[in-house]
Amino acid sequence: MATIGLIGGMSWESTAVYYRLLNEGVRARAGGLHSADVLLHSVDFAPIAEMQAEGNWEAAGAVLAESARRLQQGGASCLLLCTNTMHKVAPRITEATNLPFLHLADVTARAVKAAGVKRPLLLATRFTMEQSFYRGRLAAFGVEPLVPEGAERDEVHRVIYEELCRGRIEPRSKARYLAIIERAVREVGADGVILGCTEIGLLIGQGDCQLPVFDTTALHVEAALDFTAELERAAA
Ligand code: GLU
Repeated sequence: MATIGLIGGMSWESTAVYYRLLNEGVRARAGGLHSADVLLHSVDFAPIAEMQAEGNWEAAGAVLAESARRLQQGGASCLLLCTNTMHKVAPRITEATNLPFLHLADVTARAVKAAGVKRPLLLATRFTMEQSFYRGRLAAFGVEPLVPEGAERDEVHRVIYEELCRGRIEPRSKARYLAIIERAVREVGADGVILGCTEIGLLIGQGDCQLPVFDTTALHVEAALDFTAELERAAA
């Protein structure tokens, strides 16, 4: 059986969702007592978050490269990095092993394109909303996301680090996120929403929005299950 390698812990609140969705996905596909073959390396998020804030991406990349190596040694068949933001250092990870790496922006871009969405609003950390490592990767697929304006971006970012990554789900923050989405629909014509941070699905989901919602955590999980099913078919 193919083993899905997870680089997690950023934060563990969303990695726990990956674990649950992977297992639910295998149950839905294979039935019975089947569950996901997963190898998880979960890092301590506090030093990583400090490195992000200091812009010390080199050091953060080294930590995640080591994590990737450990997963390869443990027998992983592919790698998922369970955070959008840390895809900033994706090249450090892909250089560290020869395992297939399922890039979260590629998975997301394919889903947005397949849905025919042209102007998705990207909700994410400030790093992901503002820097080219993620938006540029989406753009390579022809997906040019909109982002909230400055004060809204600050608030989206704050809620991720001060609430969602600490396990706090606040109704006031949910209302704020939904208001940001409504403004983007009204004023700049957003026609979809990318939950471009793996914790945002803890706060809002498709049931809260009229627009198509792309939850990167759920999309990543489905892509991993498709990928490993293909590996197993090829090996059979
Ligand atoms: N999990 C989040 C993401 O998908 C944010 C935490 C982090 O900075 O890694 O971007």
